[in-house]
Amino acid sequence: MSALLNAPQREAIYYLDGPCLVLAGAGSGKTRVITHKIAHLINGCGISANNIGAITFTNKAAKEMQERVAHLMGGRAPGGLTVCTFHALGVRIIRQEALHCGLKKQFSILDASDTVQIVSDVASEGDKGIAKQMQWQISSWKNAMIPPEEAVKLADNELSFAAAKVFGEYERTLRAYQAVDFDDLISLPVHLFETNDEVRERWQNRLRYLLVDEYQDTNRAQYRLLRQLCGVRGAFTAVGDDDQAIYAWRGADVENLRLLQKDYPKLRVIKLEQNYRSSRRILEAANTVISHNEKLFEKTLWSEHGPGEQIAVTNCRDAEHEAEWVAMKITAHKFEARTRFKDYAILYRGNHQARIIEQQLRNQRIPYVMSGGQSFFDRAEIRDLLSYLRLLLNPDDDLAFIRSLTTPRRGIGPSTIEALGRYSASRHVGLFAAMFEEGASVHLTPKQLEGLREFGDFINRIQYRAQREPAGQVLEDLLLAIRYEAWLFEHCGTREAESKWSNVRDFVGWLTRKGEEDGKNLLELTQTIALISMLDKEDPDFDGVQLATLHASKGLEFPHVFLIGVEEGMLPHQSSIDEDKVDEERRLMYVGITRAQRSLNITYCERRKMGKESRVCEPSRFIAEMGGDIKMNDRKAAAPVTKEEGKARLANLMAMLESRDKNGAG
Ligand code: ATP
Ligand code: MG
Repeated sequence: MSALLNAPQREAIYYLDGPCLVLAGAGSGKTRVITHKIAHLINGCGISANNIGAITFTNKAAKEMQERVAHLMGGRAPGGLTVCTFHALGVRIIRQEALHCGLKKQFSILDASDTVQIVSDVASEGDKGIAKQMQWQISSWKNAMIPPEEAVKLADNELSFAAAKVFGEYERTLRAYQAVDFDDLISLPVHLFETNDEVRERWQNRLRYLLVDEYQDTNRAQYRLLRQLCGVRGAFTAVGDDDQAIYAWRGADVENLRLLQKDYPKLRVIKLEQNYRSSRRILEAANTVISHNEKLFEKTLWSEHGPGEQIAVTNCRDAEHEAEWVAMKITAHKFEARTRFKDYAILYRGNHQARIIEQQLRNQRIPYVMSGGQSFFDRAEIRDLLSYLRLLLNPDDDLAFIRSLTTPRRGIGPSTIEALGRYSASRHVGLFAAMFEEGASVHLTPKQLEGLREFGDFINRIQYRAQREPAGQVLEDLLLAIRYEAWLFEHCGTREAESKWSNVRDFVGWLTRKGEEDGKNLLELTQTIALISMLDKEDPDFDGVQLATLHASKGLEFPHVFLIGVEEGMLPHQSSIDEDKVDEERRLMYVGITRAQRSLNITYCERRKMGKESRVCEPSRFIAEMGGDIKMNDRKAAAPVTKEEGKARLANLMAMLESRDKNGAG
């Protein structure tokens, strides 16, 4: 326990007399304080793991924290310890207190595309773009805990008026579906705790000590949840860094840092100043960039590490050339430095940048893992399958009902669904329940009813099995019964069908494994899927280059980092330049730079395709702001003259690498 902790870290770990805030820059060991404090609470203070809750920002971080704690405690994770995201904690609370929240235990969790669909339905808004903006507005109100009645008064432009008008109906629709959206996962527990003393006290007794990582990115609703859970005792430790606040666009509020000091006057604030992650040049560049932002809190960050390699900035012709260059550089570097692929990370501002990189890595047979990317669960084929799972879990989920009823087509047409919809609305029940009611026969022909009920019986049969049999087996049978593979090949081109089917196989394989590992049945697995925004490669031994957006890279560290697309308009993003919000982009840049331990490569493109046209780009202002100690590469020297030559060089390198690895020299 005493190993590798500095004095302020130890102070933060052993301080238990009141609330504690660790405020410090990147790589200073904040997360390390949390894991060691958990171990100390259990081993040193005899607090039961059951009574400790640690809140992380992503599922991946939660998993890593579990592992780190297990490692500290001699290899075994303490049973009963809660380590999860705010949202996952919300799910637990709602599931346990479902009745108090007006829900049944098998409620559905809807993701962004479902909620946009509902807004577009209740507002009769055909334009998905507008529906999306309205949903965004509703979500912001919910994050700020503003109810529909108040939203009406706050609305001040056309869009927010429209959103305020449908807000109430949107909420009622969710409840009718026995469904919640992401924001409800926080706001329902807050509301429950604020209105029900008995329930609140029960949870306060359950989670006696709380630890929160990445505190700077909590929003108002999350802060209120924290306050309710901690009560007046204030038994918590929060760690954060105002310079890494990058979720303002999602309602996070750095003011929460100040609020903590105001609401808990006895708050002990501890600062960490030594960075253990990065070599000195990297740290200095990060410090220099962030010094261009207005300071909120006084902090310093220094390192005992040597200067390390110079940061290199390389100009590339366009995004394709950039991808090619990065792939080649990684291959060459790996060859020379005898590293593993997983020592490299490629980080970018927007998800859309990943596609070209992925293509290039695949072409060059470089293994990779992508995290936090465009959600795997957003793909049509996965959503198809998910709609069945959601319906199994919750027959009131009308969105899932319609999608599964019609995908693959089973000869039930829109007029049947409309008639069923009218009847179900008149009876105030869900579509699934409505088709089994006697009265349905007045509105639907016997033939229509027969088709519907056949589907209903099928779902009921699978549902029965889903509660009793292993998840994998039920899934396989479900896919066979709906002839999904055959349907894909009938409706898509061969290549597309193959790729979709392979995604489905990945999904089934993953669920099967998860079911076995966690001892959960298909219904239990389904309820938490919406919370997992990525399909992590679960195998920690998998050796692949890591691809992530800057937002998703928070809290992580990699020996060698490639930060790509560092241009005006990309990073900082054009919309932030337009809205004069470059500070948040600068914090993103700071997050990106500080992920690197040993080397940092930055690239920018001289031209970039925007829609149909190709535009000339300027290097990002952040490059100039990093200070002078960087190496500017010129692509004419650094990159191949022609595409073919480049490909040939890469192929050569790969062949050399493979033969070396095969001969066991690697
Ligand atoms: P971020 O702001 O990026 O989340 P952080 O402040 O949470 O960073 P950690 O991830 O906890 O920082 O630590 C950064 C690295 O430094 C890790 O590899 C960690 O193991 C190491 N480290 C932290 N404290 C010490 C220490 N006292 N001695 C040696 N290594 C340390
Ligand atoms: Mg951290």
